Amino acid sequence: MGAMMKYDYWVVGAGITGMTVARVFAEQGKTVLVLDRRSHIGGNCHDEYDEYGIRVHKYGPHIFHTNSKEVWDFLGRFTEWRHYQHKVCAYVESMLLPIPINVDTINRLYDIAVTPATMAAYLASVSVKLDVVKNSRDAVIGRLGVDIYDKFFKNYTLKQWGIPAEEIHPSVCERIPIRFNRDSRYFSDQFQGIPLHGYQKMFERMAAHENIHLLLQADFKDVLGEVEYNGLVYTGPIDEYFNYRHGKLGYRSLRFVFTNYRQASFQEASVVNFPNDYEFTRTTEYRKITGQEAGSTTVSYEYPCNVGDPYYPIPTADNQNLYARYAEDAKKEGDVVFAGRLGSYRYLNMDAACLEGMRIARNLLNLHQNV
Ligand SMILES: Cc1cc2nc3c(=O)[nH]c(=O)nc-3n(C[C@H](O)[C@H](O)[C@H](O)COP(=O)(O)OP(=O)(O)OC[C@H]3O[C@@H](n4cnc5c(N)ncnc54)[C@H](O)[C@@H]3O)c2cc1C
Repeated sequence: MGAMMKYDYWVVGAGITGMTVARVFAEQGKTVLVLDRRSHIGGNCHDEYDEYGIRVHKYGPHIFHTNSKEVWDFLGRFTEWRHYQHKVCAYVESMLLPIPINVDTINRLYDIAVTPATMAAYLASVSVKLDVVKNSRDAVIGRLGVDIYDKFFKNYTLKQWGIPAEEIHPSVCERIPIRFNRDSRYFSDQFQGIPLHGYQKMFERMAAHENIHLLLQADFKDVLGEVEYNGLVYTGPIDEYFNYRHGKLGYRSLRFVFTNYRQASFQEASVVNFPNDYEFTRTTEYRKITGQEAGSTTVSYEYPCNVGDPYYPIPTADNQNLYARYAEDAKKEGDVVFAGRLGSYRYLNMDAACLEGMRIARNLLNLHQNV
């Protein structure tokens, strides 16, 4: 690469975290180098047109949802929104039942007549009373009972994580929402949608600033030493940064198989979960999310696996302890801020990543202003 590249800030990773950080810096008059090892910006939110002309989400379905007006407005400067409300069904006992579990899920599964007024009492009658919630199975049976756990969660969790729910921290399944009404939307946030012209267009507009310089298909370690900067925001894997000196953090990966069907519609909902059948966990029909009109439809089949890109931090005590050691090292790294889902070894929704990006950029700007 030759001559030294000079920027006010260096951002490693062009996902939603890195792009947000870069945009905030750029708008404050700072020059920024954004580097990504992939050939595209947008990180895991990236979408593209497949060979059949259907817009698909390359790294799995991404639905934007937030209660933060600040985030919604910030991203809204770079895209119009398609006001889409996500729906998911689970294929259980040959039926497609609404997820999250709501009054209709229960009534159709058991052919009974629970109402929003009686749902809480019904769940109290089937749930298991536990003094201590030790793991994710407990977290489900304590709220929904054993039968619902067995039908919706037991095998899905095993497929998703490769380990039984009994070995997974309760917090994973404690987060699963339950609806005490007939609301069949997957998310209940105030703002929900999909960038009208796709995530890729949204990120291209974020990157289109004279102070932002993109460098793609370049790895951090290969460029290190060739960049001069005042601050570095690193959104890659924290263990990789430290050359895995304490060992590798556990990640669950996903393999996506995309198939195009020459038919108008493939399935009832945008996403169908298969807790008990097949090796894949879910199928996604992208046109149902994007609203694209076309003569065929593309579906992805999602196979969880242990090899491949890091997707979900595996929520075990060992991994948390290992991460704590890297987090200690990170504190000693001076001008480096570790951010995003890989830099902080956390599952982050897009809105949380964006909010964190804004906060980190503003903090660094303040810090450097006062030096
Ligand atoms: C299957 C799936 C579905 C999801 N669905 C939703 C959803 O519906 N709604 C929602 O809000 N969130 C969803 N998410 C979460 C969403 O993907 C994250 O919030 C988002 O990707 C976080 O962005 P990020 O910038 O932190 O990380 P990333 O998007 O992973 O970006 C990090 C970037 O850093 C680059 N990088 C890493 N290391 C290096 C290096 N050494 N050198 C150069 N570049 C490097 C990577 O190539 C990557 O592009 C989903 C996640 C998954 C896995």
